[in-house]
Amino acid sequence: MKVYLDHAATTPLLPDVLSYYSDVLKDYPGNASSLHYEGERSRELYNWAKQTIADSINADFKEIVFTSGGTEADNIALFGYLKSIREKKPDRKKVVTSAIEHEAIIETVKELDQMGYDVFFAPVDEKGIVDVDSLKEQIDEQTAICSIMYANNEVGTLQPLKEISQLCKEAGCILHTDAVQAMGKVEIDVNELGVDMLSASAHKFYGPKGVGFLYVKEGTPLEPIFYGGGHEKGLRSGTENVPGVAAMAKALETVSEKINEKQEQYEQWTKRIMDACQKLSGVQFNGDPERRTPGSLSLSFSGVNGEALMGMLSMEDIAISTASACSSHSHRKGGSHVLSAMRCPKEYINGTIRVVTGYDNDDEQIDYFCNKLVEKVTLLRRLSNG
Ligand code: PLP
Repeated sequence: MKVYLDHAATTPLLPDVLSYYSDVLKDYPGNASSLHYEGERSRELYNWAKQTIADSINADFKEIVFTSGGTEADNIALFGYLKSIREKKPDRKKVVTSAIEHEAIIETVKELDQMGYDVFFAPVDEKGIVDVDSLKEQIDEQTAICSIMYANNEVGTLQPLKEISQLCKEAGCILHTDAVQAMGKVEIDVNELGVDMLSASAHKFYGPKGVGFLYVKEGTPLEPIFYGGGHEKGLRSGTENVPGVAAMAKALETVSEKINEKQEQYEQWTKRIMDACQKLSGVQFNGDPERRTPGSLSLSFSGVNGEALMGMLSMEDIAISTASACSSHSHRKGGSHVLSAMRCPKEYINGTIRVVTGYDNDDEQIDYFCNKLVEKVTLLRRLSNG
């Protein structure tokens, strides 16, 4: 049996989305910017996708910019906004973010720091909730933009964006949120959240890889950060990815209808996994049990190496990860920056796995995973005790 429990890294295309995607690839060969009948057909579908996505987050058609994914949306939001106010608001040189952002934001703000911006990383508490008091102190008339993720990619914690939005409004600064891990898992209404910009990525909600979007509230100034044919109101030049955006819209439409149903199902599975962990000692659950994306579990086992556990489970055809997919493959040495910021003890950080359930799982798979998890943790502990 194959059990995929790494839905925060990416999600498989839903069967309906896959067949729709391949139909569009076949049936819409036209460039959406061409003026002939093929171009017009593609443009119509492109516009339908934009309207569908706008509707699903309570935004306007004009407020959606299609991108190649979450990383690009984050970069356009931060660099594009700062570029647009550079001359008009020279005193606003501060960029406020949190200590637990994804690399798409962390590396972007590090670059901004190099460029002379004053970057502040707000701390988080033990559950991974950003310290609003420190934001209160830092968000002021010198702040240009505050970027706080909606849901964290390692522990699933949801941030109090409404409260943060109020602070930003009072200080006259822009609030951007990286909602890549929240989109399709919790309901999102951009007006209710009070955000000015929001990034999302289709492959996290059962759409294709390499496509995403940026919501930009009307009136938010933004300048392009790269140049070309002027597509997407000049903000994202490059031939429109019609099959990609159409499949993304189809996926978002489908998952948006199922949020509540899936939430209940995921909570049951999460409980089952946590109950299985009761058979073991030295287990820690990371994150906020109340305010998190349904189906996300970050579990730490003392005296266990998370990578060894991941490898053993992989040999049993179970796919989980140690932290985020990006950090597992390379550059971030020294363990999870998210768990460190949450003051998780080092021995637990080393023994952490991330388990995220999704549409393709069932009860049998969860039971299989629970049994294998208990078996492998017990085995690894026995081996390390000689
Ligand atoms: N932001 C968060 C929170 C993520 O989890 C990811 C991907 O893991 C990204 C941004 C990057 O998105 P993409 O892979 O579409 O560039």
